[in-house]
Amino acid sequence: MKTSSLTASLKIQERHLNRLKEFLIHQDGVERAAYILCGQSSVSLDPWTGHPHRKFFSYDILPVPEDEVLSSSDQHITWKTDSFVRTLKRAQEQGLTVALIHSHIGGFAEFSDQDDANEPDLVELAQNRNGENTSLLSLILTSDEKLVGRLWINQQQWLPLRLITVVGESIRLHYPGRGLGQPSSILQRQALAFGRVLEQDLAMLRVGIVGCGGTGSATAMLLPKMGFRRIALFDKDIVEESNLNRLHGATQADADVKRPKVEVIARSLTELGLGVQVQPYQSWIGDPECRDALKACDIIFGCTDDHAGRLLLNRYAYYYVTPVFDMGLAIEVSSSEPPEIKAMDGRVTVLSPGHTCLLCRGIISPVIARDEALKRNNPTEYERRKAEAYVLGEGNPSPAVVLFTTDVAIMAIEELVHRLQGFRGENSAVAQRVRKFHLMEDRRQGANPAPYCPVCGSVEHWGRGDIDPFLNLVG
Ligand SMILES: [Zn+2]
Ligand SMILES: [Zn+2]
Repeated sequence: MKTSSLTASLKIQERHLNRLKEFLIHQDGVERAAYILCGQSSVSLDPWTGHPHRKFFSYDILPVPEDEVLSSSDQHITWKTDSFVRTLKRAQEQGLTVALIHSHIGGFAEFSDQDDANEPDLVELAQNRNGENTSLLSLILTSDEKLVGRLWINQQQWLPLRLITVVGESIRLHYPGRGLGQPSSILQRQALAFGRVLEQDLAMLRVGIVGCGGTGSATAMLLPKMGFRRIALFDKDIVEESNLNRLHGATQADADVKRPKVEVIARSLTELGLGVQVQPYQSWIGDPECRDALKACDIIFGCTDDHAGRLLLNRYAYYYVTPVFDMGLAIEVSSSEPPEIKAMDGRVTVLSPGHTCLLCRGIISPVIARDEALKRNNPTEYERRKAEAYVLGEGNPSPAVVLFTTDVAIMAIEELVHRLQGFRGENSAVAQRVRKFHLMEDRRQGANPAPYCPVCGSVEHWGRGDIDPFLNLVG
């Protein structure tokens, strides 16, 4: 029996799926099974459906040992529950959820009658051991690499996973009905380039834009035209006259009445039509009122200049296995008039398990992040320290040109579309791309995690999901 209103989804780290494929899919054509320990996250209200949502993230993989398999064929597998009990114990100790995964070698991408008959016993065992609120995930991996899954609430009730996302150098979506959607006439010309499934994939994704200035507004304007349908906007600022040179969708009238940036962009997106559903949040991304919406997102575009906001997204990408496409534009000029261009760099950095983080790349300054937090939480003390030169202060506004902010937004969306659709071919994902506008040159920049980086240098927190405090951020 299925339950209503609550929905659930799963994100699998690509490195985990690769191990699972190796273990579960064999030439001998016999089914195999494994456990996935999962972190989890509760979204009390998904902004787009108004319903609660539970998200799971692959955290660790444990194959069912060969010597515990009682019988197996190309149609079934049964195994002793010893390793299941050990896995339940570890899940309880670490606050994780257990997922069973087994292969369907024939390619049958549905749960079989045998699965329906066997799994309630495992649910019973899990709830007897770890408590009656224990849920259990069950997944099937077919030999042609399709994934289907369900969440057992109790022995009688389960719900299908709305979306399974494999996150890595590529981003692959699995959901019921994939490839069966009716293509829209609006996206017909795009489908001629990218195929029909992309439209359906993009409509499945919940996308957050953090920071709605030059790069953020450009990103927002393009997403609906690509086929994205669910967009959340996060920015606490209002439109000022000095933004009008690069804020797409903003008018003089918006600056005159000091309209919030998120409201202006939401208005423009709604006017586009195209079935887009926008959720604006006029808050700083770290504020509690943004938390549910942030956690509901599948993809984040990081378009903020603030270091504290970037610091948060930098962790979020790894804890929640949710790719963040962080953007920046740095124009360096001489003090002469007209200024001489010394550097003009547009940057897109992808944050995701397996990629090097913004701290290790030297892009975020923890000192500036600390000063920003002080300014937000205790403005009087911040002003006092600024007067005594204990904090850096903001300095002069940095140069910004709409051509380049817009170009950086395009680079970021392009990277996401490649990861989803693969138009550049194999091994062409770029973790950090810097466009040197003044040199007409693109560079791919590699970097290694710093030793002991708590974010990207160890797998300990990848896929951990909700913990207290949020993202282990103290203060
Ligand atoms: Zn089965
Ligand atoms: Zn790092």
